[in-house]
Amino acid sequence: MSNQKQPVVIAGPCSAESYEQLYQIVEQLFALHIDTIRVGVWKPRSRPDSFQGIGEEALKWIQDIKKLFPVRFATEVATPEHIDKALHYGIDMVWLGARTTVNPFHVQELAEALRGVSIPVLIKNPINPDLSLWIGAIERMQKSNVGEVMAIHRGFSSFDVSKFRNIPLWQIPLELKTIFPSVPLLVDPSHISGNRAYILEITQKAFDLNYDGCMVEVHPYPSQALSDKDQQLSPEEFAHMLAQLKIRQPYSTNHVFVNQLEELRGKIDQLDREIVESIAMRMALVLEIGEYKKDNQVTVFQMERWNEIFSTRATWAEKMNLDKDFIQHIYKIIHEESIRIQTEVVSQEKKN
Ligand code: PEP
Ligand code: MN
Repeated sequence: MSNQKQPVVIAGPCSAESYEQLYQIVEQLFALHIDTIRVGVWKPRSRPDSFQGIGEEALKWIQDIKKLFPVRFATEVATPEHIDKALHYGIDMVWLGARTTVNPFHVQELAEALRGVSIPVLIKNPINPDLSLWIGAIERMQKSNVGEVMAIHRGFSSFDVSKFRNIPLWQIPLELKTIFPSVPLLVDPSHISGNRAYILEITQKAFDLNYDGCMVEVHPYPSQALSDKDQQLSPEEFAHMLAQLKIRQPYSTNHVFVNQLEELRGKIDQLDREIVESIAMRMALVLEIGEYKKDNQVTVFQMERWNEIFSTRATWAEKMNLDKDFIQHIYKIIHEESIRIQTEVVSQEKKN
């Protein structure tokens, strides 16, 4: 149906490797109705001995393949020279990689080089979980009057052990969406996962969160890929993934659904009011205890009490089928606020 939201789907190999590889993947993706191809030409590899990308030669292949298939090409640019070359060979859209978004000097240089160029510019999140760098890169591109600016969520680097190559930290892209509601937000499940086994799961989650599309790495023979081979899908796996994805709509006009939703939201509003009232009552007690501690020269923080709160609340939570870590997280925040209130009380001069 035409009024239904259809996600943007960009797919293609991590890197251009040969004319044959590129031709083959474009032919296979075009058969799956994909009309926007991603392909890395200059690769930001961590180590100097890894494959660094083909460079300008690959832009010539792209130019030739564009004469054969009605598709658009997107590539990563990291320097003004990359932009000049990409535009020269008719690249249709460019993206800023995660290692570029971290650096406002580079982003500004690229924004200058793209000033007034009306092609879409896609901006990956910075490697580190710093929302303001991502916002800043979007603003710099918008100020340069490029074509449409889009954001790509590719996860964040972390030293912690995780099943993903880059931890998603979903709250960061969702906050970005509240700041730029009209900037399309795409997910890059390939660089989040680092593993083809999780691509469907991550993309589905993003779509359930109302993302506007995805950018997925697809290679004719993933096991032979020169970069990111563990995370690239074969065209068959990609077709299977597309068939499995459930596309939900952000709203529904079904009256039964709308009424039920309103009723349930009314109950949630009531419970939230009670939660806020309970927190207010708790903090009033915290304040009272603070006064006693002050009068009796007792420290604000007592380790045994904190341990007791932390463990009993987690046990209560588990009995009520709530996630223990979630409740402990909430109690850390509540306890932090309690300490702040009491520290303020004990540091105040006694009023007579
Ligand atoms: C890429 O898209 O191939 C890439 C290098 O991405 P990122 O900048 O997200 O690491
Ligand atoms: Mn890659």
